[in-house]
This record gives sequence, structure tokens and C-alpha cells, in this order.
Amino acid sequence: MITRSDVIAQTLNHPVLTRPTVGHELLERVVQGLGPRSTLADWTATVPQLADAIDTALARVDAATLGALAGSAAAGHALIVEYSGCDLVGACQCGRRLGRIRPGTALDALAVPWTTHTSTELAAAAGA
Ligand SMILES: [Zn+2]
Repeated sequence: MITRSDVIAQTLNHPVLTRPTVGHELLERVVQGLGPRSTLADWTATVPQLADAIDTALARVDAATLGALAGSAAAGHALIVEYSGCDLVGACQCGRRLGRIRPGTALDALAVPWTTHTSTELAAAAGA
């Protein structure tokens, strides 16, 4: 089973950038991936470009996972709210993370993304 950390590490090793860096962006913070035992950059990206590449890779894995789970009778999609430290952490039974809130915050902050997950995301994954 590939973890989300594995996906992020793979993306950082070989980011798929959807567009080239443009000149004025070089005035901002850039991130470079140096080759093994080398000072030569394999890739250079702005922080937003790298964030997009990671987000795209994670979304692809999430969609594949949801697609696999959608057809499975074993896949449950109950809303789970647990204490973690001083916060409440929401997740779907299938493992989809829904967020972290402070106690006293309306549970809608977790219930709304769960409703989106169970209605929209699962339907889209089942149709994919
Ligand atoms: Zn779920």
C-alpha cells in the first residue's frame, strides 16, 4: 500500500510541473531538486508550482483509492470524530481525512466535507 508520504516523496523526486517557471517568478522563493551526489539541479520550481504538483499527485491517488473502495462492499463511509491532542479530528471510515477543529467549533466544519465526500466524490469515483 502506497502512503501519502510515499506519493509526496515521489513527487519531490520527480515533480510533474504543469507549466514552466516564468521570469518574474524567479524573484520569489524557488525550490530545487539536486541530483544524487551532485550540485546540479534536476528541477527548479516555485513553491506554488511544487504545491500544485504534490496536490495533483495526491488527488490522483485519492481518486484511485476512492474508485477502488466505491465498488467494495467492505467500504464503509461513516463519519468518525475523534479527540487528538486538544482538537477534534474528523475522518471518513474509509480513511479520507476531513479536517481538524477546536472543541466548541460547530461540527459542520467536519460534516460538510463528509457530506461532499459521500455524495459528490464517491459518485464521481464510481462513475470514473
Ligand atoms: Zn469514505
